[in-house]
Amino acid sequence: MIVRGALLALAGGQKVKHVVTSAPGIGDIVTRFAAGESDDDALRATSDLQDEGFDVTLDYLGEDTLDRAQAGLTAGAYVRILHRLADAGLTPRTEVSVKLSAIGQALPGEGVALATDNAMAICAAADEAGSTVTLDMEDHTTTDLTLQTLAELRKEYPATGAVLQSYLHRTEGDCRDLAAAGSRIRLCKGAYREPESVAYQNRADIDRSYVRCMKILLGGGGYPMFATHDDRLITIGEALTRRYGRSRDSYEFQMLYGVRREEQRRLLAAGESVRVYVPYGTEWYGYLVRRMAERPANLSLGLRAILDHQ
Ligand SMILES: Cc1cc2nc3c(=O)[nH]c(=O)nc-3n(C[C@H](O)[C@H](O)[C@H](O)COP(=O)(O)OP(=O)(O)OC[C@H]3O[C@@H](n4cnc5c(N)ncnc54)[C@H](O)[C@@H]3O)c2cc1C
Repeated sequence: MIVRGALLALAGGQKVKHVVTSAPGIGDIVTRFAAGESDDDALRATSDLQDEGFDVTLDYLGEDTLDRAQAGLTAGAYVRILHRLADAGLTPRTEVSVKLSAIGQALPGEGVALATDNAMAICAAADEAGSTVTLDMEDHTTTDLTLQTLAELRKEYPATGAVLQSYLHRTEGDCRDLAAAGSRIRLCKGAYREPESVAYQNRADIDRSYVRCMKILLGGGGYPMFATHDDRLITIGEALTRRYGRSRDSYEFQMLYGVRREEQRRLLAAGESVRVYVPYGTEWYGYLVRRMAERPANLSLGLRAILDHQ
């Protein structure tokens, strides 16, 4: 927990970011968790995964912009990749995941409206490409705004999905609100450093909340997407989907690119739908730090990659 907190605190530090991103050898660890920097890299990884039987969600890396032009460029990058995915015949099995902070949500005053406009443009491109969009969830200060934007987007594009985090006390209620027919909800534990006032701090509490949320989502008419690498939760998920009489096409499991690949293949071989979350792009720093915070072994992997190149 201490290592996790320290790493997540580093995610926002510019000095450390410079040291890490310019370290020799860091490329090796980045390519373990991201497809690469270009659209071509993303398309290649997507095509390979689909050949293996996986579905994909692509995340164009970038977060927290306070620059209107940058927000527009990120939205443009999503529109571009959606066109290319359609041209390559990779939709509908590939969709995109979008962080609202990367498309303007944090801009003072106009942020929510700007991010909603940009997200609407991405949803329109996804719709045209025969694909969908899921809004990633960021720290708790943005949860209400993100769900507000989701509601706006779903008026035009009802298949737009969102993420709920089981570490937040509020999430069971949000699951109840969003478990209705047509609603696509990704359930994850949560990747940010959150205060006790809003979030469970203890692993067992977060896991118990995850199971309660699974039951609520499976009991509703929506399409739950269980995003976890946790063996116990996956086993419980497999059992609950059967207990709730869910057909295999009415829910899916999701995991991150490069994490627990054998388990991804096992689930697929067992007949489950598995979607792999594939990040790509040049702004990989914040994403990488969150992956290291989740598993200290990834940190030693990163340090080893850097030291090997000294
Ligand atoms: C598809 C997907 C989308 C996500 N979207 C969001 C989002 O929008 N917002 C958000 O806050 N969080 C998101 N997350 C991250 C999530 O909240 C967790 O931080 C992350 O999934 C780790 O939790 P876990 O459920 O895998 O369980 P953990 O208890 O963290 O891990 C269980 C086991 O899985 C393995 N494992 C977990 N993480 C790693 C890793 N990084 N590297 C190697 N092994 C690992 C380890 O063996 C570990 O013991 C997403 C996760 C996934 C899979």
